[in-house]
Amino acid sequence: MNKIEHIGIAVKNLKESNSIYGKIFNQTPYKTEEVASEHVNTSFFKVGESKIELLEATNPDSAIAKFIGKKGEGIHHIAFDVEDIYAEMTRLKAEGFIILNENPKKGADNKLVCFVHPKSTNGVLIELCQEIR
Ligand code: ZN
Repeated sequence: MNKIEHIGIAVKNLKESNSIYGKIFNQTPYKTEEVASEHVNTSFFKVGESKIELLEATNPDSAIAKFIGKKGEGIHHIAFDVEDIYAEMTRLKAEGFIILNENPKKGADNKLVCFVHPKSTNGVLIELCQEIR
């Protein structure tokens, strides 16, 4: 794994949160994007070399809506940049980790992504992401 690619924060209202985080970072998001497959709207901020992703549910079945229902707003996942997502998925599965999807999915910000279940990672939802080149 190369580095932390971004930290995902679950929010109730993307527009309001863009304004709050916009003030914190003194900038506007460089990208906002709907990921229909995940039922989320997202926005991204760049802070130095780091990225922050804000996620808002677009319907009650969204994992983000369920997360907020259970835990409230806050840090939802940590994403790590990987060279070869297929190889990492195979490696982690062999180590006994629960991978939430069979195959990588197209995520936000031009990435192939998959998630590792928090049950197998001390409560932290981990996203692996590989840049689509
Ligand atoms: Zn993410």
